[in-house]
Amino acid sequence: MVELTVLGNYGAYAPANSACSGYLLDINGYQLLLECGNGAFSKALKYTDISKLGMVVISHLHHDHYADLYCMRQALKYQMKEGLRTEPVILYLPEGPEHLTAEIKAWDDVFIVVDLSEAKTAVNDYNLFQLAFFSVQHQLPTYGMQLYVGGEKVLTYTADTGWHPELVTACSDSRYILAEASLKEYELEERGDVHMTARQSAALAQNSGAQNLILTHFFPEHNQHQIRREAEAYYDGKLYMSASGKKYVLQS
Ligand SMILES: [Zn+2]
Ligand SMILES: [Zn+2]
Repeated sequence: MVELTVLGNYGAYAPANSACSGYLLDINGYQLLLECGNGAFSKALKYTDISKLGMVVISHLHHDHYADLYCMRQALKYQMKEGLRTEPVILYLPEGPEHLTAEIKAWDDVFIVVDLSEAKTAVNDYNLFQLAFFSVQHQLPTYGMQLYVGGEKVLTYTADTGWHPELVTACSDSRYILAEASLKEYELEERGDVHMTARQSAALAQNSGAQNLILTHFFPEHNQHQIRREAEAYYDGKLYMSASGKKYVLQS
């Protein structure tokens, strides 16, 4: 069974008792954490035994996607020291400010770092599942992710991105799409090159033939009922609004 648990679903900052980007994937027992934004690690502890965590994927080095790596490192260090875990965690890391990537790469006591710029050029095969990555359009180098299980494209994650036509190909025939719905329509002119609206994500899911769309990465100031209504007008499939603690069975 492949299951996704939303840990955090906010962009930029998280309102009270909430968290920024974090999605826990259980892939037939293998634990993969997609994004580790502020607040997400504490939420992860609610749903998984962190000593079982095999992999972390960070799409880009904005705080709302990676900040809790700092806290996670401390927890993993303790676990290694106490013998609660023996293997480091595989960490897919994008390019970013040199001081940041150098700092994170130095944590080789707890992470085995894989450069996303290299991983992007191949299918990354872990027997139980395969991961593929694609570049998206954002302020920093940013990668979307495709998860294949049993030959099926189970999930495509857009990460933070402005709309661009290649997204339709990346998401085509995906069973689930996890897509950001950050902007309001009136913000498109100013920020449409780096984020999407609910309408754009809904049209993306519609045009790529996805059966299920999970909207996420909400800005705290925006009304989520309104976001849902905007998306519904452009998508015929099953539409879900992400929320911390919500679980989705991606493949049974
Ligand atoms: Zn973000
Ligand atoms: Zn971002």
